[in-house]
Amino acid sequence: MNENIPILQIYPQKARSLINRHPWVFSGAVAKLPPAAAGAIVKITDSSGKIYGYGHYAPNSQIICRIFCFTDQPLTIRPDFWHHKLSTAKKLREFLIRQQISLNPHTNGYRLIHAEGDGLPGLIADRYDQIVVLQYRTAGIQALAPLIEKWFLEQPEINYLFIHPFQTTETTETKEKGYWLHNQKPNNYNFKENNLIFTADIEQGQKTGFFLDQRNHRNAVAQYAKNRKVLNAFSYSGGFGIYALAGEAGYVVSVDASTRALAQVTHHTKLNFPDRISDHQPLHADCFEYLKTMPANEFDLIILDPPAFSKHISTVQQAARGYKELNLKAFRKIAAGGIVFTFSCSQHIDRNLFRKIIFAAAADANREIKILAQLSQPPDHPIDICHPEGEYLKGLILYVS
Ligand code: SAH
Repeated sequence: MNENIPILQIYPQKARSLINRHPWVFSGAVAKLPPAAAGAIVKITDSSGKIYGYGHYAPNSQIICRIFCFTDQPLTIRPDFWHHKLSTAKKLREFLIRQQISLNPHTNGYRLIHAEGDGLPGLIADRYDQIVVLQYRTAGIQALAPLIEKWFLEQPEINYLFIHPFQTTETTETKEKGYWLHNQKPNNYNFKENNLIFTADIEQGQKTGFFLDQRNHRNAVAQYAKNRKVLNAFSYSGGFGIYALAGEAGYVVSVDASTRALAQVTHHTKLNFPDRISDHQPLHADCFEYLKTMPANEFDLIILDPPAFSKHISTVQQAARGYKELNLKAFRKIAAGGIVFTFSCSQHIDRNLFRKIIFAAAADANREIKILAQLSQPPDHPIDICHPEGEYLKGLILYVS
């Protein structure tokens, strides 16, 4: 298999990032294109023939190659190579479960494969009990679909696969959301997170059906929630609200713009706290409007978990204004002694910039605010140390005097 791997030749002066094991080759670094189609495996060399590594070719993307192996040696890539990567990722999660680090035996919803973070650029795999949802984000990963799907179905705990195929610019027109492999689907999509029960909205929801990356922060909300009046802004299916109830919150209002997500808020409350349905109110509104018009002092715990305001570097400034406005509104309205959980999942807003934005909002609100904790993504969403772009989730727990 693939002994004759096509060569993508880079300019030697662009080799620094590859020597530093950054897994992306940008189109500007390429001296000679490989004679290969989208999704092909290519060998990255310079004009002297020095090998840097192997990656998946994406001729129509600015990131023209995503590297999955750094080596200076010729390599033959057999199915075992991929099996080893998949098993390594699985072993990390098994270790986390055993040691009860973020995961535990009462949690069967978590990320099994986190793209670059697991040395598999282009592949996302989220487990929901016996279901795995796969997202193929590159043609290269799509080409490996049969091998990947076979491997997952060989794992005894996995019985169903839901596939989000790779979308090319042509296929986005007829955007297919995804499908159950072999048309086989379970009769419910429930999973456990810290012994709470949730239903992933696999077929029509956001991400793969649930925001698994906020698990640790939901736990933190439970710790802060006792007797508090909680506003869960950008609630999606109400995860933070359910944990607030688990932490004995007084009441929770979960606000979202999606009626589908709000129906799930009620469903999740019924599943977990059937006696407290009236204490968890789903509310259909624009969160900016709601925060602007709600009376002051109504809440003393506010969660702000908006969608990524910046999906592209060119929109960072606009996104920064959005985050500032949102946090400013919350700081103005929260009761004294209040707690704010504030997040950004925009890849292009880094940790320092996010903190500066929150600082600017605090200064404008004219309130004394302390950082109690700085938050990041959980260890089942690992960050390759050579790929800082992988650190997308940042958050702060704030105390507002
Ligand atoms: N906190 C959630 C995830 C939030 S994702 C969780 O832990 O599961 C972002 C959510 O914001 C989505 O559900 C989306 O429907 C909602 N949303 C986006 N813009 C909005 C707006 N302007 N007002 C209210 N909700 C909005």
